[in-house]
Amino acid sequence: MTDDAAAAPTCLARPLAGPGDVGCAAARGVDGRPLHAAALRFFWGPMDCGKSTMALQMNYNHARQGRRGLVTTRIDRSLGPQVTTRIGLSHTAIEVTDDLDLRALVRGRWDEGVRVDYLICDEASFYTVAHVEQMAELVDSYDVDVYAFGLATDFRSCLFPAAQRLFELADEVARIQVEVLCWCGREGLLNARVVDGRVAREGAQVVIGDTVDTAEVRYQVLCRRHYRSGDLGPRR
Ligand SMILES: [Zn+2]
Repeated sequence: MTDDAAAAPTCLARPLAGPGDVGCAAARGVDGRPLHAAALRFFWGPMDCGKSTMALQMNYNHARQGRRGLVTTRIDRSLGPQVTTRIGLSHTAIEVTDDLDLRALVRGRWDEGVRVDYLICDEASFYTVAHVEQMAELVDSYDVDVYAFGLATDFRSCLFPAAQRLFELADEVARIQVEVLCWCGREGLLNARVVDGRVAREGAQVVIGDTVDTAEVRYQVLCRRHYRSGDLGPRR
């Protein structure tokens, strides 16, 4: 690789706008800065696989390197503007509402003189498709890295709309490698919603619950076989 090639921004699935668009070599952000190689990355896995823990670890790692970022979430289990994890970590976060524009959020910080190098978007499956489009624009036009963490599928085993859009648009998609096991010992894949001791097959896509036994609406990670049969295993 020549020095020129090393210095050139990497083009990550950036479509050319038209004949006048000379492509990545001249790519500049909305503030005129040359773009580096920001990326949209989506990390997914079932409940309890450590997504929020990884999100906070990533925030910590980047902050240690002197980068500045924002942490956002939606419907965290604490029901507050923070990211909490089952192993006890927590971090304040910006609550993402339908009306929140992630681009405006970043621009607002810039206007205040605050640098934003990256976004950590926890519980991203609960965001809207428009939010995912905004994430892509933040990468392509603002040179902001976006790391999204979330579930792929809902309790019916169907993709969340935002997760689907992330699979379609992300530069990189990674399944989180912390294994969650079904009660039978097989790898847990699907998030079953348990109501009155049975696996629910219909209902609203998002209903707040937890994976602890005492929760009114409970979720239990199952292997595909036991998700399909609805077998929740022996009581713990
Ligand atoms: Zn199983």
